[in-house]
Amino acid sequence: MARSSLKDYQEKRDFKRTPEPAGGRGPAAAAPIFVIQKHAARHLHYDFRLEVDGVLKSWAIPKGPSTNPRDKRLAVPTEDHPLSYAGFEGVIPEGEYGGGTVLVWDTGIYRNLTEKKGEAIPMGQAVAHGHVKVWLEGSKLRGGYALTRFKTGKDESWLLVKADDDEADPHRNPVADEPQSVLTGRTIEEVSSEQ
Ligand code: MN
Repeated sequence: MARSSLKDYQEKRDFKRTPEPAGGRGPAAAAPIFVIQKHAARHLHYDFRLEVDGVLKSWAIPKGPSTNPRDKRLAVPTEDHPLSYAGFEGVIPEGEYGGGTVLVWDTGIYRNLTEKKGEAIPMGQAVAHGHVKVWLEGSKLRGGYALTRFKTGKDESWLLVKADDDEADPHRNPVADEPQSVLTGRTIEEVSSEQ
C-alpha cells in the first residue's frame, strides 16, 4: 500500500509539461519535515504536507493555517507527494493538473505528539486513524497543531486546529501578513512573473 502511494501523484501529471518533481520515495532525514505551500490555482489554498514513511502526506487548506486555537480550518486530503516536492516553487502551466503558482510559505521539522491512552502512536497509524498531533518548528508556524478527520456524507474532511500552548497567538494573522516564500522571499506575483 505505502509502496504505491505516489501512483496518484504521478498519474495526475505530465512531467514533460509541469516543472514539478516526478519524485520517488526518499530516505528519511534525521527529523521529519513539514512544508506548507501557498498555491494560487483556480482557488487559492495552502497545501500542508507532513513527511510520513518516505512521502509527504498532504491536505489542501482553503483558508490556510491559523495561530488562533479558536479557529478550525478545513483541510481536504489530497494525494501523497514525493519528498522532493518540499522544495518546489514555480509555475505549473495552465491546463495541467493544479495549474497555477506555488511558493514555499513555511517549512521546518516537526515532532509527532500523537498519543492514545498515554502510548505514542506512529505517524502512519495516526493518519490512518484520523487523529494527528504534531509540534511544528517552522519559520512562521511553531507549536502544537491537531489534525482531526470527520466525515461529511461520503466525503472525508479534516480540521486543522492550533493547540492552546505558548506558541498560540490569536492576534497574529500570518496568512494575510506574511505572504512571502520562506525560501526566496518572493510573493506569488513575483514567482509568477519571474518564470
Ligand atoms: Mn495545491
